[in-house]
Amino acid sequence: MKAISVLGSTGSIGTQTLQIAEEFPEQFKVVALTAGKNLKLLVEQIKQHNPEVVSVADESDIKELQERLSQSNLEGQKLQPPQIIGGAKGLDIAASWENADLVVTGIVGCAGLLPTLAAIKAGKDIALANKETLIAAGPVVLPELKRSGSRLLPADSEHSAIFQCLQGTPWAENAILSTGVPTPGLRNIQLTASGGAFRDWSIDQLKNATVEDATSHPNWSMGRKITVDSATLMNKGLEVIEAHYLFGLSYDHIEIVIHPQSIIHSMIELADSSVLAQMGWPDMKLPLLYAMSWPNRIQTDWKRLNLPEIGKLTFEKPDTVKYPCMELAFAAGRFGGTMPAVLNAANEQAVALFLEEKINFINIPRVIETACEKHKNDFKDEPQLNDVILVDNWARKIVRETVERNSDQFAVVPKTQ
Ligand code: NDP
Repeated sequence: MKAISVLGSTGSIGTQTLQIAEEFPEQFKVVALTAGKNLKLLVEQIKQHNPEVVSVADESDIKELQERLSQSNLEGQKLQPPQIIGGAKGLDIAASWENADLVVTGIVGCAGLLPTLAAIKAGKDIALANKETLIAAGPVVLPELKRSGSRLLPADSEHSAIFQCLQGTPWAENAILSTGVPTPGLRNIQLTASGGAFRDWSIDQLKNATVEDATSHPNWSMGRKITVDSATLMNKGLEVIEAHYLFGLSYDHIEIVIHPQSIIHSMIELADSSVLAQMGWPDMKLPLLYAMSWPNRIQTDWKRLNLPEIGKLTFEKPDTVKYPCMELAFAAGRFGGTMPAVLNAANEQAVALFLEEKINFINIPRVIETACEKHKNDFKDEPQLNDVILVDNWARKIVRETVERNSDQFAVVPKTQ
């Protein structure tokens, strides 16, 4: 039985993690939950999972959560009310909760960085969904992992695929340590990408992409931010940086392959030129379950892969002209230091502005590039946590200012119908 703390329990990753915990009650017990604003769902989750501690993002929501819980008659159902906490401190406490063995990081964006670091410092194993943590702060996170012995178990489907393929190699022990040291014998990584919502759109059509278009993914069901990242292909760019830190490969050995069916979740090429792939239906529950149950495999009755039903698997080179975000991410990754943190924060801010219909879809890469270019003047090669937080705030501000200053160019947004 593993005790789990679920950060971002009300989101797409969080709810799927709790579905797994419900389906396998002999294997997983939920001891801590954290949420942002969705108190209604949080109360349901507390009733269902009876955690020891619950944290809400905003301290001012503690009272309302307590009131909602007292109305929901927990004692009548013989449930012990959880300890309710909130704010940044509350998140840290839930992330490093003493009774938790494993922390699932389902908070979206750089807001997941500090609680993930708190969990690492407490020596917890991490099922890492929140990729922004490693992207923004890889140089800070890796030494902390070494110090605490905490292990990063990738829950992102592509990195889980690589991780699963590596289990069959003699260097599996290295591959789980995520120390940024190259995994011996691992020659190349091929990250597969579905191509996102606009796979078959022309550049001209992209100019008219609405929020509704960008938040409808053809294969995966995910939160809004990552769905937009999939449409710009920034998600794949971010995953390249994540793979660099997780598996220690240089950027020259990480490739992106468009694979519209999303059946192969990624591939590794080994020293002898053998290529291993991990396959399955596009369902986040599978990589999540593996991160939660590693090194074991749990028997499920989930829909089994049927290749004749799929018919054919196809592959294409990514179009970097139509989707400049991938190149921006490679460039930021190669620059290293604080540059990926700037790329990540600029992207979060640009996506937020797009979702607010303040900038056009095709301007997302333009504003990110502006922030990265400006950052070349005061870039730091070996950042500390404070540097990461400073440049994160700076990049968000630069993006907002750039958009305000150029509102005539950027704010031509086709309205969602
Ligand atoms: P969602 O938007 O669906 O969920 C985000 C969660 O974080 C919610 O519980 C939300 O709370 C909470 N949250 C948001 N902002 C804050 C904050 N400032 N402080 C504390 N909690 C906050 O995101 P996803 O589940 O899609 O993604 C989560 C992470 O996992 C991302 O980093 C993403 O890149 C990664 N990931 C997601 C995949 C997926 O399939 N969804 C696949 C691979 C990786 P509330 O809703 O209550 O406000």
